[in-house]
Amino acid sequence: MDFKVKWSGKSIDYTEEEINAVVNVMRTADPQTQGKYLNEFESAFSRYIGGQPCFGVTNATHALELIADLTGVKKGDEVIIPSHTYCASAIPFGRTGAKLVWADVDPDTFLVSLDSIKSLVNERTKVIVVVHLYGMIIPNIEEIVNFAKSKNILVVEDCAQSLGAKLNSKVCGTFGDYGAYSFHGQKNITTLGEGGVITLKDESQAKKIPGIRHNGHAPFLNKIEYWIPAMSNVDLDIDGIWPHNFSLTEAQAALGTVLLGRLDTLTNNRRERAKKFRESLVDFPELKFQKITNENSHSHHLLVAKFQGKESGKSRDAFLSLLSKKYKVQAIVQYYPLNRYDLFKKMGFGEANCPNADSFFDNMVSFPFHITMSESDFDYMIDSIQKALIELRG
Ligand SMILES: *Cc1c(COP(=O)(O)O)cnc(C)c1O
Repeated sequence: MDFKVKWSGKSIDYTEEEINAVVNVMRTADPQTQGKYLNEFESAFSRYIGGQPCFGVTNATHALELIADLTGVKKGDEVIIPSHTYCASAIPFGRTGAKLVWADVDPDTFLVSLDSIKSLVNERTKVIVVVHLYGMIIPNIEEIVNFAKSKNILVVEDCAQSLGAKLNSKVCGTFGDYGAYSFHGQKNITTLGEGGVITLKDESQAKKIPGIRHNGHAPFLNKIEYWIPAMSNVDLDIDGIWPHNFSLTEAQAALGTVLLGRLDTLTNNRRERAKKFRESLVDFPELKFQKITNENSHSHHLLVAKFQGKESGKSRDAFLSLLSKKYKVQAIVQYYPLNRYDLFKKMGFGEANCPNADSFFDNMVSFPFHITMSESDFDYMIDSIQKALIELRG
């Protein structure tokens, strides 16, 4: 189909400064990976989030792989994860052999809540993965973290979509024990399509990351010559766990540092657009938006709504059909409950008791919301949605 407003796979128009940062690395950097640009990026990122240790990695999925290894979860343990999230929130924990337990979402925020998590905790629960989906920090994240602490459970924050969001002056990813950020091509900032950062609270675990991120490489302590006994050692950082190579390149790191400088501006632009969008549709109860109690806690990565067709007797699919075919606006549906996917079913996690997540997914719409969309396309989209909803009322 030929769309007038299409779903975009590109979240950023790079500035000349950003392009030059990459070209400069291409021309001059030696080495091209694991060098000074990575160090600079990690320091800048750490400053941005308030000082916690940060490590650049290939993507957020790999950040979560490292986190899964660091938590020590294993077969016989249980990990609580929302059923309504991107698959990468869960796959790294599935790989450990632990049991994945699906948590429901709150009907107003479309995110997991303390209540939905609490009911699933038992003595085998070792980790809770919270996802600040769509960009919004879970409103009661601090209560979830305190509850988990009281039960000796680790909290992992999947911040792939929420970079830029802050709650009580704290950046997402610094509430729990671990945080994972993504710079995938569609995320709010992107380092050439892929990229990520892992952060964590535990300083002694932080020391293990350079090794587990890069094939276990570690300096020899008592070298005789720089080549004796060998250039570097490879060693085991986590008992019984093989290391990986999840290194971010120097070009990506250099770009990331420049991008961080305009992250807050980008987030504010998104915030203004989201406000305009929602305000333009207040008279349409057919669309129920995420309940936001704190504006700064939302990075507005995506703009979603639950279609409530009861008043008009019309379905979400009738709305999407009209919007796409007549108005050429490519809204989509996303975050198929993970328990419905073939992958999770085949691995034994096809069962969930998540009625709110199911009902949300079955009625949800995700509107194109890339910040590179022109103002006129944005206005056209809002106008089209209004017209389509009125038309549906009949
Ligand atoms: C994008 C995303 C990921 C994975 O990030 P990558 O950097 O693409 O690996 C994980 N979780 C959520 C919620 C995401 O949206």
